[in-house]
Amino acid sequence: SVGGKVTLDQIDGLSKTSYPLCMRQLHTAMKENHHLKHFGRLQYGLFIKGIGLSLEEALIFWRSEFTKLMDVDKFDKQYAYNIRHSYGKEGKRQDYTPYSCMKIIMSNPPGPGDHHGCPFRHTDADLLRQRLAAYRIPKKGIDEIMEFVKESHYQLACTRYFELTHGVTASSAINHPNQYFDESRQVLQD
Ligand code: SF4
Repeated sequence: SVGGKVTLDQIDGLSKTSYPLCMRQLHTAMKENHHLKHFGRLQYGLFIKGIGLSLEEALIFWRSEFTKLMDVDKFDKQYAYNIRHSYGKEGKRQDYTPYSCMKIIMSNPPGPGDHHGCPFRHTDADLLRQRLAAYRIPKKGIDEIMEFVKESHYQLACTRYFELTHGVTASSAINHPNQYFDESRQVLQD
């Protein structure tokens, strides 16, 4: 990330200012449910790695939420390995890269109880409108976003969302959640 390291205490705030909708949705679900299912953990885990959260802080983050509902032992046995693995510290020590928009839009569509995916692609239109209104997007902006959604231009819908929430004209279309984050930090730190 262009902004360098991100620390755990910044995550809540950043989820409201600089996260794309897909990651804000995962962060909110994690806080509300103290759990994320498999693909949600992958999508969100690799994103927070990509914005610069250290493995140590990532483990604290997942553990502090998950252990609100399960004991530490179970967490350490069932989940900690996969988190270390996604940072390349276990198994083949492969360095997993965060998912692009295309990958999120095209693969593993969310089922019931899932919070991963791309909201512009996978969320019911009425619900999406409600959420955008709750995030203070003006009616005209919501209409513009929904027009892109209707035409299956999900990344353009996301780009318009970026523009409306940052008060700028985007220099290029959004094609990666971590690109969204980096560009947001650039705009907001200027
Ligand atoms: Fe996330 Fe990409 Fe969808 Fe935007 S277009 S919400 S960054 S997956």
